[in-house]
Amino acid sequence: MSDTLKFVRHPHPNPTPADKRAALLANPGFGRVFSDHMVTIRYSDAKGWHDARVEPRAPIPLDPAAAVLHYAQEIFEGLKAYKTADGGATLFRPIENARRFQQSAERLAMPKLPEKIFLEAVDELVNIDRDWIPDGDGSSLYIRPFMFANETFLGVKPSSDYLFIVIASSVGAYFKSGADTAVSVWVSQEYTRAAPGGTGAAKCGGNYAASLLAQAEATHHKCDQVVFLDAAERKWIEELGGMNVFFVFNDGSMTTPPLGTILPGITRSSVLTLARDKGISVREEKYSYDQWKADAKSGKLREAFACGTAAVLTPIGTVRAPDGEFVIGNGQSGARTAELKKALVDIQRGAASDPHKWIHKVF
Ligand SMILES: *Cc1c(COP(=O)(O)O)cnc(C)c1O
Repeated sequence: MSDTLKFVRHPHPNPTPADKRAALLANPGFGRVFSDHMVTIRYSDAKGWHDARVEPRAPIPLDPAAAVLHYAQEIFEGLKAYKTADGGATLFRPIENARRFQQSAERLAMPKLPEKIFLEAVDELVNIDRDWIPDGDGSSLYIRPFMFANETFLGVKPSSDYLFIVIASSVGAYFKSGADTAVSVWVSQEYTRAAPGGTGAAKCGGNYAASLLAQAEATHHKCDQVVFLDAAERKWIEELGGMNVFFVFNDGSMTTPPLGTILPGITRSSVLTLARDKGISVREEKYSYDQWKADAKSGKLREAFACGTAAVLTPIGTVRAPDGEFVIGNGQSGARTAELKKALVDIQRGAASDPHKWIHKVF
């Protein structure tokens, strides 16, 4: 089957006027302001990938028996387009998103979109909606590629039809408190996110559906995010609802939970590389909630941070659980978190050299 497709472009007949767009971009928040276009590509067992379009963003007709509405066969990605000083636009490691999308597809018994088509689809959207990339530190155009089962059939089996879509949202900081304010986290001891053999390493909507009650519990306890422990022993820290986690110790070393049931974050992998570039010793090893609490109390643990495309690096200040709460360091952002965040953001924004060839120039 072919791994090239011709994208047919249907530009929006009346795109958002510039003054209205400027008002939306002034304070976009996260995930509420959408650009004018979307990319769609269809798949069927009979035809393979076909009908690639760039078209006005609009509601999509869906049969009430579409498989995704019943059995949740859906995967997604998230990446950001940044405006550069010369007026261009770049993406950060998009090939990693394309690869992970294939891995998620494999786990959910979906067809694998060729990497090249994934990248072209994202480039098409960033190109046509380039005016929706906000200026300014911490702002970007968040790109959301996703794919779902679109066969009209209530039988339980992998769908024969899929719709792949890319939409874009102009965004500022993920947390309302701002980019460098430490967040509080709730350690869920009742609910788990992923089990061995499950879908924890796949970026699928179903994982998020299963996490919402725990997130609501976190909100109820006045926490920004939930931390999940492993499903087997309820002992080992896995990750947050949608972010990976790192711990920074007094001896300067760092730890992050190993891959397996967690989502293999591209930010996580980049932080590992940047830390090693700086000569910091980083372990990918299990770390228990009990140890976390003991190390925070003894002062052995200096910092902790969450990381992901949406939240970049966000310091964790307070940890709350049914058995009490503790503070990390002075409860504020720490120096190592800030240093690694700067190293990452400087590469993403073109303010530092790019030794690992992570930057993809769109235009
Ligand atoms: C997307 C995601 C992350 C972060 O991955 P990045 O590639 O760094 O954006 C972490 N955990 C979960 C559950 C996710 O869905």
